[in-house]
Amino acid sequence: MKPDYVFCRKAAIAFFSVRHKMYAGFEIALKKELCFVKKEQIEADIYVMTGEAFASNSTALIKDDEILLIDALASSKDAETLRHFIEDELKKEVRFILCTHFMSDHMAALKSFPDAQIIAHENYRQTFASQRSLTDEEASFFVEPTITFSDKIKMKWGRLTLDIFHNPSHTMSTIGVDVPEADLLLVGDAFFGNTVFLSSAGVPEQIRGALKYLQTKERSRVIPGHIGIYDNKAFENALFYLNLLQKRVQNARNSSDGERSILEISIEDCLAPKLTASEFEREFHEINLRLIIERKLFLPQSEVCLN
Ligand SMILES: [Zn+2]
Repeated sequence: MKPDYVFCRKAAIAFFSVRHKMYAGFEIALKKELCFVKKEQIEADIYVMTGEAFASNSTALIKDDEILLIDALASSKDAETLRHFIEDELKKEVRFILCTHFMSDHMAALKSFPDAQIIAHENYRQTFASQRSLTDEEASFFVEPTITFSDKIKMKWGRLTLDIFHNPSHTMSTIGVDVPEADLLLVGDAFFGNTVFLSSAGVPEQIRGALKYLQTKERSRVIPGHIGIYDNKAFENALFYLNLLQKRVQNARNSSDGERSILEISIEDCLAPKLTASEFEREFHEINLRLIIERKLFLPQSEVCLN
């Protein structure tokens, strides 16, 4: 998600204040040290943790005394919570960390497990460098991966098979991880709640293609980079938002008020029917509108060339 864009930090702060309210039941837990915002055990050998910073997700796949971790949360505090949970409570050792994309909001715990092999797509460095506004703490999360790949890898991890495939969308290093035995699909930041975040480099056509491909997997459990667990309907909702956003932008450009009226497009005019926007989705929708103007997105190709 976001630290790749200058407007994102402010939005993220607002997002967290909102998320804390939304997770009212977890307020007491948040006041303690080393607690996740949310932790779900979806199978005997699979945990999904949601950290406090950016509500980033991390998924732990257990095999005997070892763990394969997918994504590594967004802050040093969340990283320590994760290390404490895995090493002190579960008493397991992290053997591999698989990065769905190389952005700092998914990398905080890479240094918490120094003996782990770190797996990432070969475009990892370009993605990390594309982030525009990292704090010193976030910049310090960078670790060279020990294993990189270009197209796909298949891994056996205990009873689980991991089909790992390059699926560029929000970043050029984004991968997907299909785990058939667990009816589980991990997708990085391919969608964001019921929307998509266009980011400073995301190409709408590529995002659309990635979402459609992920949808064909038809998994019941889908874990994106943030917030928690979704289902296959998430792809339809994200595509609905992206398609309608494009249509609204084109209508705005053709209106008498022109380009500036893009900023007046409401999220309600873009969400799939019966969905309600959360505050954080609203914040990122507004960032998307500014990005569309700045990056000249959704222009006909001939007009893009002229600019
Ligand atoms: Zn993210």
